[in-house]
Amino acid sequence: MLGLTIREVSRALREGKISPTELCRKCLHRIKKTQHLNAYITVTEELALKQAQEAETRLLQGKPKGPLDGIPFAVKDNFCTENIKTTCASRMLKDYTPPYNATVVQKLFDQGAVLVGKTNMDEFAMGAGSTDGAFGPVRNPWSYAAPYGEKTDAALDSNWTVTGGSSGGSAAAVASLTSYLALGSDTGGSTRNPGALCGVVALKPTYGLLSRHGLIPLVNSMDVPGIMTRSVSDAAIVLGVLQGQDVRDSTTIPAPPSLTELSEDFDVRNIRVGIPKEYHAPGLSDETLAQWSRVTDMFERAGARVEQVSLPHTQYSIVCYHVLCHAEVASNMARFDGLEYGHRSAVDSSTEAMYASTRHEGFNDVVRGRILSGNYFLLKKNYQHYFVKAQRVRRLIADDFKRVFGSGVDILLTPTTLTDAACYSDFMQEDNRTRSAQEDVFTQPVNMAGLPAVSVPTALSRRCLPIGLQLISPALQEKKLLSIAKWMEQRVGFPSISDCVDGKESRTDTGVTKREQTSAG
Ligand code: GLN
Repeated sequence: MLGLTIREVSRALREGKISPTELCRKCLHRIKKTQHLNAYITVTEELALKQAQEAETRLLQGKPKGPLDGIPFAVKDNFCTENIKTTCASRMLKDYTPPYNATVVQKLFDQGAVLVGKTNMDEFAMGAGSTDGAFGPVRNPWSYAAPYGEKTDAALDSNWTVTGGSSGGSAAAVASLTSYLALGSDTGGSTRNPGALCGVVALKPTYGLLSRHGLIPLVNSMDVPGIMTRSVSDAAIVLGVLQGQDVRDSTTIPAPPSLTELSEDFDVRNIRVGIPKEYHAPGLSDETLAQWSRVTDMFERAGARVEQVSLPHTQYSIVCYHVLCHAEVASNMARFDGLEYGHRSAVDSSTEAMYASTRHEGFNDVVRGRILSGNYFLLKKNYQHYFVKAQRVRRLIADDFKRVFGSGVDILLTPTTLTDAACYSDFMQEDNRTRSAQEDVFTQPVNMAGLPAVSVPTALSRRCLPIGLQLISPALQEKKLLSIAKWMEQRVGFPSISDCVDGKESRTDTGVTKREQTSAG
């Protein structure tokens, strides 16, 4: 039951094969069994059982609210949840309980979904590994999956791999079968990166299509809620529920009609697939490159027109992102002053001293570092040189995409990450900033341009770790994006997660799975 997709488990619930309460208990039990992953900061057991009971009553009356009624889900700990701790994995907010729900969380509640917990992350979503939060790093469930057999002991302690980040807890929650869907946030890749490294589908919608109300901001001009599921069709179901204008977020836009109705078998003949030449970046692993080529060939053989395209400003994306991100961080973090929210220092010799020590005690050095450089970029003498220049280059990056899509290309196919997941000990050799610069090369430009993109699990590497590929479409073309993603998902042969977690999957020497068809989807 736990390895099913939302579609499948929703059918099982409606047919009475399992009750929402039983399903919820199974997830809660599995959360306990997989505690070593450190995927959750808060487990909302009491609320989950109450919501499951309510779903049960509705289902017994034959009145389910929709496909998400009774479905267990998890939420990254930077989305506000009423009366439930929302920590952003920071000492600053470690005891903060918001008085309201983020719009996207409320929408899931309104559909009868059952919240099992809040997931671990990098502090304030600043990172690319889920290694830099106040509650410790998240471990990749695949470190413990086939071919090793599911292990919870210390045997793998030295070489477990990271989940990617910053929404690593959400990715691990879906991959380790403790929830059927999870919300992440995506500012530079934070949903797609851990999605790829944990072998789950990860959708970053068009900027503004989903409300950011109640999502604690990182970079307001780029943040979007992200969706993680076990199949592309599931992502479409969730997108259908979450999208749309919100009076509480003035940047939201109306959803075009029937955006999420996917074609059952999308015809890829004559679609134009662009392969950006700049994405052949230094550090791209042989295995990821091989998967990129394999899927490119797959499209070509099916009759798609595959062509090389150029996005010439790609190389400036990361450095400009850092300027814009740090500048927005400097102003966003100003609200954490010890007065209104969260932690307040005991130092009270003066107001200024209280501010300073609250922020020193509450934030980790990554957050403090970004505030510092952000304020530097915003100094009167630097503003034009850094902030305004970065905004200009941001426009050039967006124009690159516009030009390529304007020439008739339907979709771009790229890797999601350079490599499969790194071992924790190797990952921590570099500092947070260097790691983000490496991890986000393929995901970040999309946020600059506000476009939708999805990472689809594609294959297992020789180390038996997932590799994902990314599809990017023009704004508001989620329907086409996900239809093509589904076409791809049905053909790449990524093993079903439940098979792997149970340790049953077999591999060929190339790391490509033997199974032809994934059962997910
Ligand atoms: N890795 C990037 C950063 O640290 C992006 C994070 C994100 O998307 N939340 O800023």
